Amino acid sequence: MTHPVLTALGLNDAESGTYLGNGEWSGTRDAGVLESVNPTNGEVLAKVHASSQSDYETIVERAQAAFKVWRTTPAPRRGEAIRLCADALRTHKDALGSLVALEMGKSKPEGDGEVQEMIDIGDFAVGLSRQLYGLTMHSERPGHRMYEQWHPLGLVGVISAFNFPVAVWAWNSFIAAICGDITIWKPSPKTPLSAIASMKICNDALKAGGFPDIFFLFNDAGTELASSFVDDKRIPLISFTGSTKVGRIVGERVARRMGRSLLELGGNNAIIVDPTADLKLAIPAIAFGAVGTAGQRCTTTRRLFVHESIYDDVLAKLVTAYKQVEKKIGDPTDPANLMGPLNSRDAVQAYLDAIEQAKAAGGKVETGGAAIERAGNFVLPTIVTGLSNDADIVQHETFAPILYVMKYRDLADAIHMQNDVPQGLSSAIFTQNLKAAEAFLSAAGSDCGIANVNIGTSGAEIGGAFGGEKETGGGRESGSDAWRAYMRRQTNTINYSDALPLAQGIKFDL
Ligand code: NAD
Repeated sequence: MTHPVLTALGLNDAESGTYLGNGEWSGTRDAGVLESVNPTNGEVLAKVHASSQSDYETIVERAQAAFKVWRTTPAPRRGEAIRLCADALRTHKDALGSLVALEMGKSKPEGDGEVQEMIDIGDFAVGLSRQLYGLTMHSERPGHRMYEQWHPLGLVGVISAFNFPVAVWAWNSFIAAICGDITIWKPSPKTPLSAIASMKICNDALKAGGFPDIFFLFNDAGTELASSFVDDKRIPLISFTGSTKVGRIVGERVARRMGRSLLELGGNNAIIVDPTADLKLAIPAIAFGAVGTAGQRCTTTRRLFVHESIYDDVLAKLVTAYKQVEKKIGDPTDPANLMGPLNSRDAVQAYLDAIEQAKAAGGKVETGGAAIERAGNFVLPTIVTGLSNDADIVQHETFAPILYVMKYRDLADAIHMQNDVPQGLSSAIFTQNLKAAEAFLSAAGSDCGIANVNIGTSGAEIGGAFGGEKETGGGRESGSDAWRAYMRRQTNTINYSDALPLAQGIKFDL
């Protein structure tokens, strides 16, 4: 029987994973099947038919044709299209949030929150559609005017991860759309239903508003189509969200063809708790950061540096908080639960392997440390002490709820350790000391793309640019001026004089 959450969104237990444009979903049935598995009980929610090479060609050709029209549609009119998408998402927020919880395994409030992010970025994009500003510059030559303008880039390829199965697409595609681009999406094979539902909601809204196709979708049974997507010269920008391992391959391949890539990769985020910290804020922030989404956020708190003078107290309070969470682990679609399952059996194995590795390196499991004996991919949130920051396992992003707690004496050492990992996504300090806060945010402080004071590492508002440094890939998405990644900049000089003065006063007498 089709799950009621799927029915509420008009989905069946066998779906096409390919939106070809013109209101057409592909009839391809011989390019492989993806199974969407419910991580809460291991049951197959639905089968999704993967896309063929010929589907992919149709998509790219139709997207190219769509771009020719969309690039000359006035940007505020493009904004109107996204306003309709955001409104449709408001209508379907509850159902789509439930599907995200069901298929990915995050809690229902977090699933709803992800849809809210889509709505928020939609609203942001509508406003931005009237603000794609370029600069004017003063020319050194008389009778000349210089300015820059931003033009649409073309086709934008979005490859997304399982843990944010809908918001990441909206971050990219809504901004790209108001910039005049057409988006082709390849979602995670673990969450194809959330992608299909998002496409249906937005494409229905666009059609009802009389807008053309601006969003396309394909699903890959393996990685063959995704690889050719990355290599495809017709796609000037590939926006990739996922692991550093795959992102490195994607970045290198796109660079080889002189394309642009926007990389949003793994994190290994830390919080520093200094002696003046308000623990009423710090303890829940650490617990939410480390345990929320069962540790499967790129911004999950994975390392904690606590001043030695408050270390025992903080650890005891955290263990108590974790025991509270343990009582609320279960079906993520039940809003009473704080933590759902990991998304896959492989993730459970990676969690168990990391704990073994931590123990072998001398780590002590303070709480958790085991899978839960029940159907589905449930594990206990875990705190490990006794390891140093340079232990192999601590340097590595294990995509699971494992927190390594370490002591420090000097703030400079804590900041050094917080930076001393390959990744550079999110970071935070809890302090009431102005000097400590400013030192943490200074040029000699955190080296991450996100640095917070008295708020944890995880979660982000769409108004700021989101992304990180080093092996996190350097990309920025969402707010601020991240839109520029989806456009090409053109510098224009206009001579309205009767002379032809050359720049830098060069003479070229004929
Ligand atoms: P993943 O790297 O396994 O997969 C990501 C995507 O890449 C999927 O769609 C996958 O099908 C695709 N893919 C796999 N091989 C490919 C290839 N050869 N060519 C092209 N595409 C290919 O990541 P995941 O397990 O889905 O997600 C978890 C990871 O994503 C974590 O490392 C997490 O930190 C990271 N992440 C980062 C951010 C961020 O904004 N920085 C956000 C969410 C997740």
